[in-house]
Amino acid sequence: MRSLYGLPSTVIHCKFCLMNNQKPFSMNETKNKKGSSKNGLYINNEGKCAACIYNEKKNTNIDWAVREQKLKIMLAKYRKKNGNYDCIVSGSGGKDSSTIAHLLKYKYNMNPLTVTYSPILYTEVGWRNLRNWIYVGGFDNYLFTPNGKISSILAREAFKNMLHPIQPFKFGIKSIAAKMALRFDIKLVMFGEPYAEYGSQSINDTTSPSYNEEWFINDNKDIYLSGVSIGQLKKRYQSITDNDLIPYLPIKSSELKKRKLNVEFLGWYIKWDPQEIYYYACKNNGFEVDDQRTDGTYGRYSGIDDKFEWLHYYCHYIKYGIGRARFDASQEIRSGHISREEGIKLCKKFEGERPKRYFQDCLNFMDIDIDEAEKIIDSFRSPHLWKYQSNKWTRVQELKELNE
Ligand SMILES: [Zn+2]
Repeated sequence: MRSLYGLPSTVIHCKFCLMNNQKPFSMNETKNKKGSSKNGLYINNEGKCAACIYNEKKNTNIDWAVREQKLKIMLAKYRKKNGNYDCIVSGSGGKDSSTIAHLLKYKYNMNPLTVTYSPILYTEVGWRNLRNWIYVGGFDNYLFTPNGKISSILAREAFKNMLHPIQPFKFGIKSIAAKMALRFDIKLVMFGEPYAEYGSQSINDTTSPSYNEEWFINDNKDIYLSGVSIGQLKKRYQSITDNDLIPYLPIKSSELKKRKLNVEFLGWYIKWDPQEIYYYACKNNGFEVDDQRTDGTYGRYSGIDDKFEWLHYYCHYIKYGIGRARFDASQEIRSGHISREEGIKLCKKFEGERPKRYFQDCLNFMDIDIDEAEKIIDSFRSPHLWKYQSNKWTRVQELKELNE
């Protein structure tokens, strides 16, 4: 069976959580072209995925007291006593970013500057949480909002070319912290959750606290945005100027080397439990959960800042067969909060549900009508994952329990 996106044509499921080898990985979005191939989640011979392997290691093999000691030594190198900011934490005000900033400031005595690359369309609860972070948590913050006319064009192109409407935004959030650090001459950037929490392409990615700078550096001349080259984009939209695209441009490696910027994950140094992080954010930063369950899953507190998140997870489900409920359930299985059987029940109930709540808002923003959107969505169903029969789409190569 043919696999679009260069993912393995045979689906292998992790035997411990609900993930499978179709989950692609973070990459430098300015190198991501239409039709680029992707690496999927690593699964070992025993059927255990990289996220589950990392989780086991996190709970048994890591001496967290030693790691915290290492954190204190590392932070001491960057702490400033003259009132200047000594590190950058970027985020929208969600549970993770607000907690990292709070720990760094109030537990480890740092002076972080928080920066926010605005979601494409802030939800009401997301906006309140940004304000809560600043006012209840107590932080200085720069909110950067890119030109809305340009982000509308880029979201539309990314939706049409890659079924990935938030792709340009993703690059923005990956790079804003480093860009602001260079601007303010700050040498340390801290992110929270190591990507290994969600698995990786190899199991070697967990041995260092460093963030992969490859994700926001690009020394090449040919830069891609929304799946097309900047040249093609400017040809298609003649009103776009070079200035309009500055927020989406990568950093040159020489700039980082010259300034000795260090970008790390706090979650490498302290044990990262998403549920604990959530409690911490509520208690210390006034973090609020949504007033209703998120379409496509059962949760109310993850990825609730941007109206586009709902559509994004749905697109992910169409392209890779992995929906929002499966991310939430797999993570909770690993943390020991639910069993795999309970996770399967939750996925059966919620996975792949249409993102009704903000669907029309996203389409309006991208200036795409519903019929066109449906056609685009269906054109991204890979034949090795989907078949159309009896007037509906069914997943092939899915776990038997989920397809019953
Ligand atoms: Zn797993």
